[in-house]
Amino acid sequence: MSENSKIEWCDATFNPWIGCTKVSPGCDHCYAERSTPSRVQKINWGPGAPRRRTSASNWRKPLQWNKAHAEFFAAHGRRQRVFCASLADVFDNEVDPRWRIDLFDLIELTPNLDWLLLTKRIGNAMRMLKSHDWCAGQRNVWLGITVVNQEEADRDIPKLLATPAHMKFLSMEPLRGDVYVREYLTPSFPHCVAFVQGKQMEDGYCGRCGGHRSDPIHRRDTHDYIDWVIAGGESGAGARPMHPTWPRRLRDQCAGASVPFLFKQWGEWAPAPGVIDASGGMFHRVDDDAWMQRLGKKDAGRLLDGRTHDEFPRGAA
Ligand code: SF4
Repeated sequence: MSENSKIEWCDATFNPWIGCTKVSPGCDHCYAERSTPSRVQKINWGPGAPRRRTSASNWRKPLQWNKAHAEFFAAHGRRQRVFCASLADVFDNEVDPRWRIDLFDLIELTPNLDWLLLTKRIGNAMRMLKSHDWCAGQRNVWLGITVVNQEEADRDIPKLLATPAHMKFLSMEPLRGDVYVREYLTPSFPHCVAFVQGKQMEDGYCGRCGGHRSDPIHRRDTHDYIDWVIAGGESGAGARPMHPTWPRRLRDQCAGASVPFLFKQWGEWAPAPGVIDASGGMFHRVDDDAWMQRLGKKDAGRLLDGRTHDEFPRGAA
């Protein structure tokens, strides 16, 4: 399955195969499992259930997008972003490893596209990336993980930081708690301000910090910090409300570290106005001071404290 996408942070989605197993609280209301393609194709979810590879014509789509790079760039002033995969997990260990090799080959053949690989199985990534002679630090790959609570943050972000990738991001959706990520947003090495701000550098170095010639921060394939954070609430049947404090704190942590932040959506529930009538069952009290109102994804919108947050990292390639 591939399509032009309505997802705020990408231009198209590509699914090399469909099917998965739930591995996280973020999977509880898995969109992929209940989406139309999964239902129509009668794909079963779970351990041992066969994954279904998508059609050859679907696999040709990224090659077409890659060819159309000049037109896309002229219209948008940037490269096309492809989300892989919305109906599966690239690093699923129940997928035929040859399919993954085919996917890596496809990524290598499409250098004009930025591939956003988002996984809930970052623990498998290093081993699976090594199965291909294509380098994990490929410049057109952004490697991201889903993190919905503090436990996942502390378990999985260090694994992401240890995995070579040119761009590293967090998708914190559906956000299920107040999560502290600040220490992961800053390199553990001396921070090179000119580098982070995208200023012109000679030889890849800003030349302003002592010892910059040997500082690994300047090597994008080994950098140990997060480049981008996406956050959002849950949507669909059974969606759980997100406390308004949770995305606010993420926004503020990103601002403090000069890391781009994108607020994708409130989801089904949005903060209720100060005075409410809680008799209709449309409200949920998240604490003494905050009520949430069930409005549906569209009406709940994506304003956080009155404005959108649509920041992206600098282009990957
Ligand atoms: S990893 Fe993604 S696709 Fe797989 S079950 Fe979880 S939410 Fe669904």
